[in-house]
Amino acid sequence: MTLTAPLPAAPGHEAAPLRLVGERRIDRDRVERAVGELLAGLGRDAADPHLRDTPRRVADAFAELLTPQAFEPTTFANEGGYDDLVLVRDIPFHSLCEHHLLPFRGVAHIGYLPGERLIGLSKLARALDRFARDLQVQERLTAQVADWLQDTLHARGVGVVIQAEHLCMSLRGIGAAGAMTVTSAFTGELAADQERRKRFLPDA
Ligand code: ZN
Repeated sequence: MTLTAPLPAAPGHEAAPLRLVGERRIDRDRVERAVGELLAGLGRDAADPHLRDTPRRVADAFAELLTPQAFEPTTFANEGGYDDLVLVRDIPFHSLCEHHLLPFRGVAHIGYLPGERLIGLSKLARALDRFARDLQVQERLTAQVADWLQDTLHARGVGVVIQAEHLCMSLRGIGAAGAMTVTSAFTGELAADQERRKRFLPDA
């Protein structure tokens, strides 16, 4: 699936505010009670010594998986006038599918064609992690990272390609173990630049 977003109408300022996602308050007590109820619904005895701490452990795990770390999306002037693709490939990530609450995980390839600003390379991985620590679908995650990068950098174009295995697909349902889902979003000059787009693709 390919998602293509247009360039914003009026680029100009340097650093867009970081749009916050996944910052809904997590009510751990409520999650613990719900996991206890889930265990009961699955026919398990929540008082069993082996399961007694499971609700707390599950609540801790979800809290961790859904709490992104804040970061400063530092950008700096493109003083050397670098004008080719900046591309970081194979950035590992994990997220949670909002349909089944099961993980999907894989790698992302994130890049941009710089204009006047550059961004620290590690920030690309941090931005991905920020949006991935949420209840997600891969298509939306891909578009959110691309939109954020475009808004932050006012680049001439940005590209995000994500390849992931969804446990809801590989462990249940069709049981397609190892199947990779690939999504992509390209903006600006990259949307129409087939040669540069190829450099994002797996095994290019
Ligand atoms: Zn799913």
